[in-house]
Amino acid sequence: MNLRRWAFPAFALFMMVLPALPVPDFWITQSNYIGLYAMVSLGLVLLTGVGGLTSFGQAAFVGIGAYTAAYLATTMGMSPWLTLFIGLGLAVLAALVVGAITLRMSGHYLPLATIAWGLVLYYTMGNLEALGKYDGLLGIPSLKAFGVELGTGRGLHPLIWAAALLAALAVTHLLDSRPGRAIRSLKSGSMMAEAMGISTFRYKLTIFVIAAVLAAVSGWLFAHFQRTVNPTPFSLSKGIEYLFMAVLGGVGHVWGAFLGSAVVRVIEDQLQVLLPKLIGTSGNFEVIVFGIVLIVVLKYAPDGLWTFVGRWLPAPKRERNWEGAAALPARDKPARGELLLEVDKVRKEFGGLVAVNDVSFQIRAGDIVGLIGPNGAGKSTTFNLITGVLPLTRGGVNFRGSPVAGLASREIARRGMSRTFQHVKMIPDMTVLENVALGGYLRSKANSVQAMLRLDREEEKRLFAEAERQLARIGMVHQMHELAGNLALGPQRLMEIARALCTDPALLLLDEPAAGLRHKEKQALGEVLRQLKSEGMSILLVEHDMEFVMGLTDRIVVMEFGTRLMEGTPTEVQESPAVRAAYLGTEH
Ligand code: ADP
Ligand code: MG
Repeated sequence: MNLRRWAFPAFALFMMVLPALPVPDFWITQSNYIGLYAMVSLGLVLLTGVGGLTSFGQAAFVGIGAYTAAYLATTMGMSPWLTLFIGLGLAVLAALVVGAITLRMSGHYLPLATIAWGLVLYYTMGNLEALGKYDGLLGIPSLKAFGVELGTGRGLHPLIWAAALLAALAVTHLLDSRPGRAIRSLKSGSMMAEAMGISTFRYKLTIFVIAAVLAAVSGWLFAHFQRTVNPTPFSLSKGIEYLFMAVLGGVGHVWGAFLGSAVVRVIEDQLQVLLPKLIGTSGNFEVIVFGIVLIVVLKYAPDGLWTFVGRWLPAPKRERNWEGAAALPARDKPARGELLLEVDKVRKEFGGLVAVNDVSFQIRAGDIVGLIGPNGAGKSTTFNLITGVLPLTRGGVNFRGSPVAGLASREIARRGMSRTFQHVKMIPDMTVLENVALGGYLRSKANSVQAMLRLDREEEKRLFAEAERQLARIGMVHQMHELAGNLALGPQRLMEIARALCTDPALLLLDEPAAGLRHKEKQALGEVLRQLKSEGMSILLVEHDMEFVMGLTDRIVVMEFGTRLMEGTPTEVQESPAVRAAYLGTEH
């Protein structure tokens, strides 16, 4: 029997029947709070733990859900199901506005903006006459379902927990999907994700909106649970507390949100009773205790408490169920000998330094062209100019007959260029297979809503079948279920090549694939490249190691100090005194 299979339905069933059991009211109330908090923390797991974006402002989104319900019900007598949709709409709108302004900017702008947003909303709620200022709004009617009053305690419990558990299920589904892999790629910087054709901005905005929606649902339930709202539960310090719950429980795990919420709720309650007795005066001392606990947790269990629970669960296993899945769409390939890439006098200046000085060369379909030169010659910069990672100072790049200079790297990827990185870029806590499937992003379509509802399973099978096919191509099928982060450097580099192949490229660009490899691994890599060449793949191979490219390439472009030193066949290059001088001159 699989523990992972039945644990969720058993827990869900237990939460549904809990209020019918002889459990004291106090614990039902606590459980309601835990469910409400968990929903908000769950948003933070997605946003912060998975996506790497920090928000202190989630309590404000809870406030939007709660105040919308309270205001529309008390002033207009509007139906709660209608106020839910309006509240969600407002939360989405607010998230889109805050996100659109800040998510394009780097790092700390979002946390700062969410602090500002949390403060603004708190003082707005506290100062608006219509919202009852700091006294808030009273007399919110209780919810009715199928003609039954749900009341505020036991009746509401199944609804709160149904919402929280469905949210957990939806987020779990999302994380194991095409958009989920895109979301999981956000934390390792945008360069790799964009090279796979992913708009990182779009997915940052997506998870920010999802987190806001979860918070607003929690707020809407909260309003009907309390039957009154005031600004205090939606303040900035509550926003920090939500983040605390997520981090304490385990910000990288869906169930960490639940564990963190439970621990915080129970301890908070005990401390509120205990601490004043111990200290002799009343005050919010629990906040100080939380601060200390957070530091201890960050130091000794940075992944949160869930790691201790997760250790006892069997590792999730992916069933190999994609046998016979239809192939993903493929692009029209250029005919052998067709002019594929034209690099025309590209130039890149970094301040006064000319890193690439009017370099030109061409690649025809089926060729393997080497771009070599000593360290600092400008190879990676040239590579980044071609793939759209860096803007050109001057010059042009044509790919399959149309100019691509100035396009975003994900647009260039869409046209059929795919690349690997000098320093391997991958998602270490995803399996090899999932990492390679990321390459199939542009050949698939499922969106976040389809993923949450599991309407994407057919396409997922096609993606995994393709990923496995590409792994077979490079001889790595036996490692497909291993975590990418556990691989040695050699297999990691091969995995990157498989991921690039999964995009169905017309041109494959490899940046120093042999760097740091041991002799055996280099041989294996050489074998893979020879195999690809025999299949007609066009490759631009950037390499520092001259020996490695000699037996592989049709033509070699040699760079030194940003300039093209010569271009020729491997033999011509090998015999050139100028090339030898360049290598000897800088190496010694
Ligand atoms: P290679 O890949 O051939 O070793 P690079 O293209 O990485 O060389 O670097 C070429 C030159 O440009 C080096 O002198 C390097 O210091 C400089 N350079 C590369 N990237 C940047 C950057 N982002 N800002 C400033 N200088 C850079
Ligand atoms: Mg380099």
